[in-house]
Amino acid sequence: MAEKNFSTNCIHGYNKKYDTTGAISVPIFQSATFAHPAVGESTGYDYSRLQNPTREHLEKTVANLEGGIDSLAFSTGMAAITTLMALFSPGNHIIASDDLYGGSHRLFHHVSMKNGILFDFVDTSDAKATELLIRPTTRAIFIETPTNPMMQVTDIKLISTITKTRGLLLVVDNTFLTPYYQKPLSLGADIVMHSGTKFLGGHNDTLAGFLVTNNQTILEKLQFLTKTIGAGLAPMDSWLIIRGIKTLPIRMDRQQETAMVIANWLKAHPSISTIHYIGLPDHISYDVTKKQCSGFGSMISFEVDTEETAIRLLDRIALIQYAESLGGVESLMTYPMTQTHSDVPIEVREKKGINSRLLRLSVGLEDVWDLINDLEYALRKD
Ligand SMILES: *Cc1c(COP(=O)(O)O)cnc(C)c1O
Repeated sequence: MAEKNFSTNCIHGYNKKYDTTGAISVPIFQSATFAHPAVGESTGYDYSRLQNPTREHLEKTVANLEGGIDSLAFSTGMAAITTLMALFSPGNHIIASDDLYGGSHRLFHHVSMKNGILFDFVDTSDAKATELLIRPTTRAIFIETPTNPMMQVTDIKLISTITKTRGLLLVVDNTFLTPYYQKPLSLGADIVMHSGTKFLGGHNDTLAGFLVTNNQTILEKLQFLTKTIGAGLAPMDSWLIIRGIKTLPIRMDRQQETAMVIANWLKAHPSISTIHYIGLPDHISYDVTKKQCSGFGSMISFEVDTEETAIRLLDRIALIQYAESLGGVESLMTYPMTQTHSDVPIEVREKKGINSRLLRLSVGLEDVWDLINDLEYALRKD
């Protein structure tokens, strides 16, 4: 059969038939364990912590979309990163983006460091500064691109030339763009990480996480850690993410189209002082984005003139909801300082621009003018 395109693979990315009824939808195998046909034999499934057919279908689909040899599905994005961190030993050093998802920052500072992993945090969009931090004990570079919430973009290929010559692992958190707009493995990354809770699931109804790789040795280590740690995704939740992924391209295209209109509208608004959207040609990394991504996504951060404006806006939005998370059909507004990044020390936050005037908008699938009307009312001074 001819190679299929991305949209088709979202729906038919893995064609194994698990039953004989002709069911179009993959069955939810709500079974903790599987009977063995005979001593020393297995159906291929033994116990759902190790593998479950519904989870397997999801893992193969995500691996196909990212161009990996396989993937592992976890109960949350944080469970994926926690399992990833078990690859490393005390004394190992990791270089990570200095503008990370707040949960990753918390995990690295409060759990991984306690377990003896050493870190340096740097703006990885500066490849020279990143390379200078490599020590003999460095094992990996962990990047998020674009970053949350400041939308810094790292040139994945450039960093991968460093990791390849120095024998380091390159891990990329691809949550914001998904493989529909960015394929880190094809740009030289070794492991792609996802919060599947966001665009992949897409409906603000299920938590999930992924690790994807194109390296057999890494895959086997991650499979061993997954069965040992036990944070794999449940069958029902696997099915919900399988269903979400079927509409990934069509959702992301529309959400991006709406985000572009909103970004330009916000940019022209007198109460907005700065806007961070990677789709705007005046974004500092527009050229890198155009080179390595096929789209811009629908995440916008912006700074308003005063803290009062920020708080009034959060009070007055009605269609857009004031909630953590992103990537779903419902538009959500986040106040990073008090929500996603509340555990980041204030000096670090302020230095990055995560202050009391910064807001983050995840543009959903509502009508663009309904969203703009909601923002227009919330930004009025009366
Ligand atoms: C949400 C998020 C995570 C964590 O994922 P959960 O599913 O919430 O555990 C990690 N990285 C990024 C960029 C995220 O947005």
